[in-house]
Amino acid sequence: MKLLEERIRKDGTVREGNVLKVDNFLNHQMDMNLFQEMGKEWKKLFADKTINKVLTIEASGIAIAAIAAQYFDVPVVFAKKAQSINIAGEVYQTKIESFTHKKTYDVIVSKKFVGPEDHVLIIDDFLANGCALLGLIDIVEQAGATIEGIGIAIEKGFQQGGKIIRDKGYDLKSLAIVDSMDNNELIFREQ
Ligand code: 5GP
Repeated sequence: MKLLEERIRKDGTVREGNVLKVDNFLNHQMDMNLFQEMGKEWKKLFADKTINKVLTIEASGIAIAAIAAQYFDVPVVFAKKAQSINIAGEVYQTKIESFTHKKTYDVIVSKKFVGPEDHVLIIDDFLANGCALLGLIDIVEQAGATIEGIGIAIEKGFQQGGKIIRDKGYDLKSLAIVDSMDNNELIFREQ
């Protein structure tokens, strides 16, 4: 998606440890016009799918998923990062290792909100090593729901997540794929 690539070039900065900082428009301050265009793009890319729920993870997935869900006219459920689990039985639970914080979280979703009847579109801001997505996929599988597709804003193509998820057969659509950011020079994959 050219609009997103141009914005990353304009406002993104490369930080130590292969971190692309986009807090000017995506992760901290949020550009709603850009989010709307991203939502429309995912709606086009998944036009042939029947989707009745969007699933994301807190915190930075929520706003993107919420705007996108408006174009599908469906509710959004976000997985919560929980410090201690004492409500076993009522929730699906998985573990996710955070790429940016180098920490492992327990993540939960209430059984009330995802079940076998659901056709889910997973949305998140970044795809790096794939831990966040694998956790969300695990939750959908525990629920017996169907994953119709996965929409990512920025995939870091030089990390393994994209390959892992595509090799598993999921319909993964990333709006921008950064193949390299060596020496602060961003190279995007042709799509
Ligand atoms: P993964 O689980 O695929 O390794 O990483 C995905 C999660 O880590 C995303 O939800 C995102 O919050 C965070 N993340 C990974 N790489 C980056 C990055 O380069 N920049 C930012 N801002 N977040 C990232």
